[in-house]
Amino acid sequence: MTVQKELSSTTFTSTINGQPRTSPTTAPVYNPATREIITEVPVTTAQQLDETVAAARAAFTGWAATPIEERQSIVSAIGDRLEELAEEFIALLIKEQGKPRAGAEWEVYGSVAWFREIAKQSLPEEVVTDDESRRVVTRYTPLGVVGAIVPWNFPILLAVWKIAPALVAGNTIIVKPSPFTPLCDLKLVEVLQDLLPPGVLSAVSGDDNLGKWMTNHPGIDKIAFTGSTETGKHVMRSAAGNLKRLTLELGGNDPAIVLPDVDPAKVAPQLFWAAFQNNAQFCNASKRLYIHEDVYDAVRDALVDYARTVKVGDGAEDDTQLGPIQNAPQFEKVQEYFADCKENGYAFALGGDIDESESGWFVPVTLVDNPPEDSRLVREEPFGPILPLLKWRDEDDVITRANDTPYGLGATVWGKDLEAVQRIGRQIAAGTVWLNEVHQYSPYQVFGGHKQSGLGAENSLHGLAEYTNWQTITINKTEGAV
Ligand code: NAD
Repeated sequence: MTVQKELSSTTFTSTINGQPRTSPTTAPVYNPATREIITEVPVTTAQQLDETVAAARAAFTGWAATPIEERQSIVSAIGDRLEELAEEFIALLIKEQGKPRAGAEWEVYGSVAWFREIAKQSLPEEVVTDDESRRVVTRYTPLGVVGAIVPWNFPILLAVWKIAPALVAGNTIIVKPSPFTPLCDLKLVEVLQDLLPPGVLSAVSGDDNLGKWMTNHPGIDKIAFTGSTETGKHVMRSAAGNLKRLTLELGGNDPAIVLPDVDPAKVAPQLFWAAFQNNAQFCNASKRLYIHEDVYDAVRDALVDYARTVKVGDGAEDDTQLGPIQNAPQFEKVQEYFADCKENGYAFALGGDIDESESGWFVPVTLVDNPPEDSRLVREEPFGPILPLLKWRDEDDVITRANDTPYGLGATVWGKDLEAVQRIGRQIAAGTVWLNEVHQYSPYQVFGGHKQSGLGAENSLHGLAEYTNWQTITINKTEGAV
């Protein structure tokens, strides 16, 4: 296969039944650091989606019958292909998403590792009973056609978390990237086509209609969705028509709880990145920082000092550590939180003023000093670099406040007293609780949300199982039974 070295200078097409496809209309994709149009992508029509689903259904029988060892080895080879093209994908990701190089490397090389490790996973048959008269086994069979709906914050990795297990389990899959970041996903699916039979892995870009058509489509058996809780609820309603299987990875409002025994200078950089990694456009960003009152001032000041050293800018520049907000609607949403803080007279420990004349959708790192617990900034998910710092005194009270949210995606607890850290951590209702660390993920570690942060799981054998139906097979072996 000829490796296309300059991915960003090529055209971008959907991939339907193994073939590149354009559409009658196109939509622009912007570089968030400059607000300039990078290129245009197809706006897939309803008829083209029907064609994509038909091809995926046709490919399913053969792919499901392919021995799992072969499917695993293809998924591993997909990881190799991505690694060969890593530099090109990193450049393209920086351009369309805005994230700086370190974040783009983490995402692309992480995706390589995910393909390779998920390729080692399988769900062997389980023998439930096996005696002289009967044998009962549970086996796992693929579902059919999966629709993968992906957000704009980690466009490659969150597609890979769906593509890898879907293919290993024997399903065919159609990827729909976010309209704000379609380029890497369209290109990834395109450059993998020679490794797979046509129709096994497709990609379609589109506008707001496309996600709805997919979740409603009778030919799609499962939706694997990552995005906001609000959209997740639409997906769930729309998927009821043919009782699609669902995995929903949704929004979060992760608390971080800081104990009084921390060393403020040591913990501040870790808290900073817990909150601001990917410019805080991160489902698992720490979005409420509960600091014990004994160290509140010291931790706040250490955070301010550290934050002043962090460079915000175009991800394409070498020394940039935080990029712009990814898109215009999100930029407007983040502006609302700044306005709300100002209108209510909350104190800024750092930042607070957005410079509208910047070339890109840039927002300064902003720390809000002890706003009320019922402020919008504390209750909602701003998904941008504005963080409330909050004081606590009583352990039971801070646990109650941490859990007082419809979300339950993640949480962190920070302190030298490991017993206290674990005691508090175990009382937080969230899918992942990190103690004295944050944002550690693994293909072997189950990931998902409690409460309205989601339904089902990704990663590990729990995640793989979500791409299968379980099936019980029993046999009566008694001589003369029939
Ligand atoms: P979003 O919900 O706006 O969009 C997500 C995807 O859904 C996009 O591809 C979009 O085009 C599509 N979509 C929009 N309307 C749809 C509809 N009616 N039916 C079907 N699909 C539809 O989310 P976003 O703004 O792209 O991403 C940010 C959100 O995602 C945040 O809330 C964040 O916390 C969440 N998120 C969650 C996780 C997780 O793993 N739990 C990871 C990353 C992001």
